[in-house]
Amino acid sequence: MPYFDSTATTKPSKEVLDIFNKASSEYWYNISGQYRASVMGSSLVSKATSQILTALNTTNKKIIFTSGATEANNTAIYGICQKYIGQNKHIITTSIEHPSVLNCFKDLEAKGFEVTYLKVSKDGVIDINELQASIKPNTVFISIMWVNNIVGTVMPIKKIIEIVKENPRIKLHVDAVQGIGKIMNDFSFNDIDLFTISSHKIHGLKGTGALVLNNNIEIMPFVKGGHQQNNMRAGTVDLAGILAFTVALKTSIKEQSKNYEYVNNLYNYLTKQLSTFDFISLNINKEYYSPYILSVTFKNIKAETVMHFLESFDIYVGIGSACNEKTKVVEPILKIMQDEKLAINTVRISISKDNTKEEVDLLISKIKEIGEK
Ligand code: PMP
Repeated sequence: MPYFDSTATTKPSKEVLDIFNKASSEYWYNISGQYRASVMGSSLVSKATSQILTALNTTNKKIIFTSGATEANNTAIYGICQKYIGQNKHIITTSIEHPSVLNCFKDLEAKGFEVTYLKVSKDGVIDINELQASIKPNTVFISIMWVNNIVGTVMPIKKIIEIVKENPRIKLHVDAVQGIGKIMNDFSFNDIDLFTISSHKIHGLKGTGALVLNNNIEIMPFVKGGHQQNNMRAGTVDLAGILAFTVALKTSIKEQSKNYEYVNNLYNYLTKQLSTFDFISLNINKEYYSPYILSVTFKNIKAETVMHFLESFDIYVGIGSACNEKTKVVEPILKIMQDEKLAINTVRISISKDNTKEEVDLLISKIKEIGEK
């Protein structure tokens, strides 16, 4: 089955399933206990933490394991901003963030924060000058995604870091979910105060994510309860999920350049073929893009119809963001990069290392059929 929706989730690898099964059957004890099995589980989490930090090439960080990137984003935003409620502070994000960031900012706005939502240009990236100009003496927090999950444009994280460094009181958070293990970073993770990652986007399992943050940041727990994870996140620690995540992350980073080259070749081939069809347009940024995500707008057909037509040949593509598909909310970035009326005609094709050239050829031929009909 040609699956082209790896932005929504990826197939867990065999190594991930093996370690998850092994950990679930052999190390199922609660790691918060005092007996030997718990202490051993706890030391496995410490080992996993340092392996993840080493793989990310960062030296000044700690990790809060969460139920996914949604919780990690919430933890970062409320963890930093909660203490400023009622203090007339200013926070910045973009208008194209994932809902797990955007909705937190809207909530904080309702709670009295002044919020700047940075615009993006027609080519899907923020304007770094707008960011620079929007910083005020009372700005305390900035959250900007690395790779946009709808169209695959890449934000200028390196330049953002330079600007934030001039304002050391500001904490910078990056939602790195669609970049980690997929595209190269031209910046150091040491220079980002907090960033979010998710296991199921890199061939790990759903239900595990992490917030990676500077050692010296004291975060207010978002999930409150017991004292697990040094009081940073309550709830029994999911050892099996964390070990599976560690394998997924290490593998995705080890194989990153090889996979990137493979996916990029398929992406170039696909975009070249699709650009010859006059009934579609591609929402791409030729310079700042991830080859893992291709947004395609049809001139006269709804995305849903395209999706179901392809599905009838067992080809799976996404519509907008999986998180918003059911609510039928049109993604803000599509309204900017496309004629607003055509935004609902947009499908998202996500290539992964598991796709073959034959699958891409089949996809192209079926899209061609749609045009002919
Ligand atoms: N941020 C981005 C950029 C995403 O693409 C997603 C998943 N669509 C999330 C956050 C939420 O991830 P999770 O499913 O792990 O909660």
